Amino acid sequence: MSTSEADGTASGEARLGRRVVGLFRPYRARLVLIGLAILVTAGLGIVNPFLTQAMFDDALFAPGGARLGLLGALVAAMVVIALVSGLIGVGQTYLTTVVGNRVMQNLRDRLFAHLQRMHLGFFTQTKTGVIQSRLDNDVAGVQSVVTETASSILGNVVTVVASVIAMLALSWQLSLVAFVLMPVFILLQIRVGRVRRRVAASTQASLSDMSAITQESLSVSGVLLAKVFGRQEHEVDRYRTENARQTDLQVRQTMTGQSFFAVVQAFFAITPAAVYLVAGYVGTGTGGALLSAGTLVAFTTLQSRLLFPAVQLLRVSLDVQTSLALFSRIFAYLDLVPAITDPPGARTLDKEHAAGSVEFRDVWFRYPPSEEDGDADALPAAPTWALQELSLRIEPGQLAAVVGPSGAGKTSLSYLVPRLYDVDRGAVCLDDTDVRDLTLSSLAEIIGMVTQDTYLFHATIAENLRYAAPDATDAELEAAARAANIHDRIVSFDLGYRTVVGERGYRLSGGEKQRLAIARVILADPRILILDEATSALDTVSERLVQHALQTVMSGRTTIAIAHRLSTVLAADVIFALDGGRLVEHGTHAELLARDGLYAKLYAEQFGAGQIEARCADGVRFRDGEVIRQEPQAEVA
Ligand code: ADP
Repeated sequence: MSTSEADGTASGEARLGRRVVGLFRPYRARLVLIGLAILVTAGLGIVNPFLTQAMFDDALFAPGGARLGLLGALVAAMVVIALVSGLIGVGQTYLTTVVGNRVMQNLRDRLFAHLQRMHLGFFTQTKTGVIQSRLDNDVAGVQSVVTETASSILGNVVTVVASVIAMLALSWQLSLVAFVLMPVFILLQIRVGRVRRRVAASTQASLSDMSAITQESLSVSGVLLAKVFGRQEHEVDRYRTENARQTDLQVRQTMTGQSFFAVVQAFFAITPAAVYLVAGYVGTGTGGALLSAGTLVAFTTLQSRLLFPAVQLLRVSLDVQTSLALFSRIFAYLDLVPAITDPPGARTLDKEHAAGSVEFRDVWFRYPPSEEDGDADALPAAPTWALQELSLRIEPGQLAAVVGPSGAGKTSLSYLVPRLYDVDRGAVCLDDTDVRDLTLSSLAEIIGMVTQDTYLFHATIAENLRYAAPDATDAELEAAARAANIHDRIVSFDLGYRTVVGERGYRLSGGEKQRLAIARVILADPRILILDEATSALDTVSERLVQHALQTVMSGRTTIAIAHRLSTVLAADVIFALDGGRLVEHGTHAELLARDGLYAKLYAEQFGAGQIEARCADGVRFRDGEVIRQEPQAEVA
């Protein structure tokens, strides 16, 4: 995930710098205004020492005695300059704050939107905490630099340059004394910056590791696991180690450069003394005509005015170096290419015009290797295909049940239809069009998925349902909930559809969540439904409610069900039995039982005879190996 910009070479740095500057491009007009404001205030700031010089030499201690008229004018000028600078300063702060924060806003928006477009594989391979850390810690890390740096650099550079020019104008000899050590500082500063940048990169990496640990071990499942296995101490140790590293790095980051600043500050404190000394020998002492008292006062005033912007500039340039490390982490994420996107000229196919046939044509598929799977240079391991040589066809409106032992490739098969992953060879076709030639938004509209564990947002039931159909009316919500057998349960809550569920809300039972998921997909009204039936057994009542709900949602749509319920395999128009990523058998329940192959074996194991009556749907009976199938519609009534 490293980019060429992160490589630390000069050209890499330049590229990275240009890219950061590019973030400010949309705000050019405002930046010009800011620049003008800075130039004006800096210019006004330089005028002051000259006024001081005039004040001393021409007004207060003029050869013929104090000149009060001039004194009044000079004082008035000083007051006006101070007021005007203050006013411009306010406007400038407003503009820089706006620009800086807008740049950050754009960066966060782009990063979030980009991550949304990443394919599923990216998220299965990256720890959630790590992704969150990029959005939170890294973006927050550059925030201060972005919001303050631009104006700080410009303002200070202008002040420094103007001061230096004014100092030279006042006395080049004194300037020589004042600047003799400058080059040393600049070299030192470049070195310190490099070190700081390296430390900053380690700090961010450590922060991201800590986020990942927190995310993993403080989630409900993580805490549960640690408690059950008595591993809390281990988790605490893990966190403690990373936390200690983090502290060390933070201290190092702050302290790198601090002694350098101390030297700079001491230098600025000492040089005025040196200037007086030199002035004594060169100027006023011998002959006295070279330097006036006013010049000397103005010069040292300028010099002390230089201290603040100079230190500020050094500090900012260190901050910039630090933030470059963060920027390269952010850009690395922005540069990730979403593996699954709309091809050029992708077709849209709307729901109304989709018939709903699904075909796998000699499909070969394997999961992309994870980044953590060892050495990229090593020879690729022998490919393990999750699916191979897979060809099957499901006609519009059919219910296809996919069965097979765990790891057979059932879930992988279901992922290929909505392009959560792409095939390696062959094609998956929807209405005889390769899914890769259709827009992703068409696929999302046509295909609906009910997964094993239902994800609910921390929001009201109504909001969770409307996630599928934002424009659904209350009546439509209710109709869907009724069809999914969940309406009665919803209205039994005090707040009804306004009950907050999900993460920290009311916890629904497994069956209730499944039925809510079914209601959600009914609202979405897809042409093709992919259903991953939950493996966990529900009690008989819940089971029946879920089964009824499923029958409703399946009717009139093409359904691919990863089947764990007897009712589903019995009702299926066609059953596909997978093993080791291959299709080994297909046919109806009766045909496959008669073949006495994989399906017959699975059937005996998974849908063992004893449980059959209890788990059987109302409409389906089973007696002595014979199936009596009834029309699904009749069962629901
Ligand atoms: P099933 O749903 O039939 O249990 P899957 O389709 O989940 O089987 O898995 C098929 C194969 O692909 C298995 O060998 C599994 O280990 C592998 N697999 C599943 N998900 C991933 C993944 N995200 N990355 C790599 N391999 C995976």
